[in-house]
Amino acid sequence: MPGLLEGRRGLIMGLANERSIAWGIAQAARREGAELGFTYAGEMLEKRVRPLAAQLGSDVVLSCDVRSDEEIERCFEALGERWGSLDFLVHAIAYANKEELTGEFYNTTREGFRVALDVSVYSLVATTRSAVPLMREGGSIVSLTYLGAERTIPHYNVMGVAKAGLEAAVRYLAADLGPSGIRVNAISAGPIRTLAASGIGDFRKIFDWYDRNSPLRRNTTIEEVGNAAVPLLSDWTRQITGEVLHVDGGYHITGVPPVVEEE
Ligand code: NAD
Repeated sequence: MPGLLEGRRGLIMGLANERSIAWGIAQAARREGAELGFTYAGEMLEKRVRPLAAQLGSDVVLSCDVRSDEEIERCFEALGERWGSLDFLVHAIAYANKEELTGEFYNTTREGFRVALDVSVYSLVATTRSAVPLMREGGSIVSLTYLGAERTIPHYNVMGVAKAGLEAAVRYLAADLGPSGIRVNAISAGPIRTLAASGIGDFRKIFDWYDRNSPLRRNTTIEEVGNAAVPLLSDWTRQITGEVLHVDGGYHITGVPPVVEEE
């Protein structure tokens, strides 16, 4: 049986280490036969990303700090020269200054707001724009979001606003690109211990709370997010676009807010 992504080429943006959600998705996509390329932001991360890419048989490793339009252009130009076409894009990138991810939302600074929305939302718009000319046969774009877009989650603050913007951007991009056969969706993952998550205030408490209270009574793993991403990247979901798929053990249906109790 050929894999679901046999013969497909995909770019994975947002791999930092083997705990990254991007790593769970990359492993699953590779297992299903995809050929993968990777991007990194900064030399420090290049040292981590290259060996991981090599583990999945890839030497397509490109610099792409999404704060720079020129970097994004150069990255996709290089990808075009190497591959000529692209079938899918995984956008697993988010950033907010640590001081914005604790305490009250109303203390968000103008600069903190700008940075969070630039890196976490605008980057999807800009990278999609660069990917589209390579997706001549259609394609699939998947980004990563979190329940904090829909509900208030303690300390998530400006990232919640960014994720709400990201989910709206997914719908607008899906509407734009549907006629070109390019689908755009997001996965709303439950809390997972990653580098990005370690910057969120009281993350451990929220993580433990999900483990005990989500309908499936345990936290989500990067492997589970990867397995859910594969169908979205493949032809199996050819009529699905503009959607947010919750991969969070059913937590989003409970209606119970995560309360961070005082110790
Ligand atoms: P991670 O730290 O492993 O990945 C975040 C990535 O963003 C890193 O690779 C980092 O290099 C990249 N990044 C940050 N600034 C960048 C820039 N300027 N240019 C290019 N790349 C940049 O953490 P993760 O949890 O795997 O995060 C991946 C995605 O999943 C993020 O969008 C995150 O918000 C989302 N998400 C995470 C969780 C969770 O609990 N970990 C839950 C739901 C959604």
